[in-house]
Amino acid sequence: MSPYLCHLDPDCLRFEAGVIARRPNAVLLDRSYFYPGGGGQLSDRGTLQWKGRELRVERIETEGANAWHYLAEGEAAPESGERVVANVDSAFRFLMSQLHTGLHILNALVYQRFEGSLVTGVQMAADGTARIDFDLPAADNNALRALEPELNTLIGDGLPVNVLYLDAAALAREPGLLRSRSVAPPRQDDGMTRIIEIAGLDRQACGGTHLTKTSQSAPLRILKIENKGQHNRRIRIGLAG
Ligand SMILES: [Zn+2]
Repeated sequence: MSPYLCHLDPDCLRFEAGVIARRPNAVLLDRSYFYPGGGGQLSDRGTLQWKGRELRVERIETEGANAWHYLAEGEAAPESGERVVANVDSAFRFLMSQLHTGLHILNALVYQRFEGSLVTGVQMAADGTARIDFDLPAADNNALRALEPELNTLIGDGLPVNVLYLDAAALAREPGLLRSRSVAPPRQDDGMTRIIEIAGLDRQACGGTHLTKTSQSAPLRILKIENKGQHNRRIRIGLAG
């Protein structure tokens, strides 16, 4: 089963599925639209409705192509062969999508202003904050902090966020699509790489969930800039309000 049905239909937040394997506190479904986590984005949360009960899905853990849906402490998993109605937590998905699209805007500004600086790490958090590390040995932290108004102008501009897929030759022809120093985004079984395009601003390989328009996001604050080692600058951002 592809762990990325959420790429094919990101608006599918409620679906029926069959349990094909179980652990005492986790199930494998025959299909799932939960985002399985990765690229610094937390996995989706939600519920499974089963026999009149509502089981809480706390996180997804992938093992190869299998996405295990882990239930809250004390909840016993349905048996194999059972049918469930799954609900993705839309508020949590929206929170992660705002942070992820916001990080791409910030990444675009840093990449353009600081000579192609690459990302060395990224992590989004459930409290509406995120951190992103750049290889930026010579940058002035005030110049980084000064990006905040522009970040919010680009959010307010309502730029469309598009998804496209490129093959290896097209990927090689367009420098700058791969922004991570160490991590390659997941390549699909068909050899294509998923690209997130913020119209007129940025294109980069990414496997995460995103807004469809930048103005769906709350404003973002640059909370903190830290020097992490000789090369790394860590920028912490948070959603306002
Ligand atoms: Zn991304």
